[in-house]
Amino acid sequence: MQIIDLKGKKALVTGVADNVGFGWHIAKSLQAAGAEVIISCHPRVQTILERFLTKDKYSESRQLPYNSKDELKAIAILPCDVTYDTMEDIPEEQKSQKGYAGVDASIQGLMDATQKAVGELDILIHSVAFSPEVDRSHLEVSRQAYLTAMSTSSYSLISLSRAAAPLMKDRNGHIVGLSYLAAQRAVPFYGGGMAAAKAALECDARMLAWHLGEAGHTVNIVSPGPYASRAAKSIGDIGEMIDQTAARSPLRRSIDAQDVANSVLFLCSPLASAITGEVLYVDAGYHAMA
Ligand code: NAD
Repeated sequence: MQIIDLKGKKALVTGVADNVGFGWHIAKSLQAAGAEVIISCHPRVQTILERFLTKDKYSESRQLPYNSKDELKAIAILPCDVTYDTMEDIPEEQKSQKGYAGVDASIQGLMDATQKAVGELDILIHSVAFSPEVDRSHLEVSRQAYLTAMSTSSYSLISLSRAAAPLMKDRNGHIVGLSYLAAQRAVPFYGGGMAAAKAALECDARMLAWHLGEAGHTVNIVSPGPYASRAAKSIGDIGEMIDQTAARSPLRRSIDAQDVANSVLFLCSPLASAITGEVLYVDAGYHAMA
């Protein structure tokens, strides 16, 4: 019995760079439930991502979950640097660089291309985070890096949601972003301003839930436990973090990307029709511990 049926739904998943990160697994789960999926990536990683989506050697990683026989197949792969709201915001010297040349890699450009590819939108996934100083503590972070972390990891949710809203008109859309426990508790190794960026992201999701709720859209956050993605590896000894968290979690285990994708799928489904402005922890219960 298939409980979640997203046939006819159109989903845009941002922040996919490889076949390991949460975005990849979320895209697969949404497609497995029947949605048409558009994938957006940072302009600089588009060629790499295309390889993961086409080369035979990555075929196993494209296999959809839930006993599907199909593979991940994006309707379109669209480059977007979420630090730019419109083409006018992209500096001239950037426009000629690899991945940016010849396309509108801004958020508005992404939504224009999405509209061209699929018309309307039902689901928007924000799976993007970056700080240039993630290995520097919260005490040592520079002003510029702090602001970059906020701009890339938090403000982008507001900008993407605003630009997506016209495509979601009359479709009771679902928007989901990904946070981390450091938004609520002090996590010493989580540097570069990222803790504040996640706190802002959670606050923004609640505010957006109000502003977009009138149009019937939900805005929620999933907060996963540590997972060895490319982004997480740059934070520190991710293996040790995972082991320590698993040992102190009620379920005595770490999480995997499918745990997160399952929960995001739920929040994008009619099963979660009255859930909005929520932060859902997908961390084997670690957040509940003293
Ligand atoms: P990831 O590296 O796969 O994803 C991060 C993505 O952000 C990458 O695709 C990267 O290209 C993209 N990105 C960075 N700057 C960008 C920009 N300017 N424009 C467009 N895209 C940009 O790693 P992940 O761990 O899957 O991260 C996905 C989300 O999950 C992030 O929000 C992260 O903070 C969150 N998260 C991760 C963990 C973890 O332990 N891995 C835990 C909790 C939350």
